[in-house]
Amino acid sequence: MLKLEKLSFAYGDLKVLWDVDLEVKQGEIVTVVGANGAGKSTILKNVSRLVKPGHGHITFQGHDLRKLASHEVVELGIVQVPEGRRIFPEMTVVENLRMGSFVKSTRKDRERNIERAFTLFPRLKERAKQLGGTMSGGEQQMLAIARGLMANPKLLLLDEPSLGLSPLLVKSIFEIIKEINRQGTTILLVEQNVYQSLRISTRAYVLETGRVVLSGTGAELLDNAHVKKAFLGM
Ligand code: ATP
Repeated sequence: MLKLEKLSFAYGDLKVLWDVDLEVKQGEIVTVVGANGAGKSTILKNVSRLVKPGHGHITFQGHDLRKLASHEVVELGIVQVPEGRRIFPEMTVVENLRMGSFVKSTRKDRERNIERAFTLFPRLKERAKQLGGTMSGGEQQMLAIARGLMANPKLLLLDEPSLGLSPLLVKSIFEIIKEINRQGTTILLVEQNVYQSLRISTRAYVLETGRVVLSGTGAELLDNAHVKKAFLGM
């Protein structure tokens, strides 16, 4: 579905990705794990075209993403939920959700998608008329994911959805990600919470200073000696 081949990228003179090969097949949850600054978000930004194209190839269902603008990438069905939530603070929960179906072809599904969001996140239903900016951090994260789903993504890009959440909420966010995937959305996830994210991943990649150093199934990486030592404190 999505294929990165020898992707390299630099911010000015600062090179942050080296020859990254990565694939996401339809139906998978694929995770990129790595420390702060490893380049995880930069991979997502290259896919969603939020940065100018680097070197190498990025294709999605046969389309060369390097040739497209970010809105065209969204129209192909790739939606990114940014790190740090970025919901509209002065709009209510429902208004935020409506903003998510800005792609013309998804407007007819708007009400149905709002119902779906409320089923996935009952907390949002209880708070439908509350202003986004007054929601807790965890609720805003839920809202950001729910808003992303309003655009009917084929591939959902999630940037650190567990960041800053309490342990209990982290667990439920990962459960919800699994459920979104079970309902048919392919997921590319970037995470520092290595244990929880590998548990739900079909496959995963370990990124260290811009290079893929390991890849395998979630279970294989959870059992890998280097992963255990570097990320799981074992
Ligand atoms: P984190 O988990 O801390 O978000 P990350 O693995 O997602 O880290 P990136 O955000 O991809 O890492 O950043 C990789 C490197 O690129 C970092 O050293 C960062 O400082 C640098 N960087 C990111 N964005 C820019 C930018 N717009 N201009 C210059 N350097 C940047």
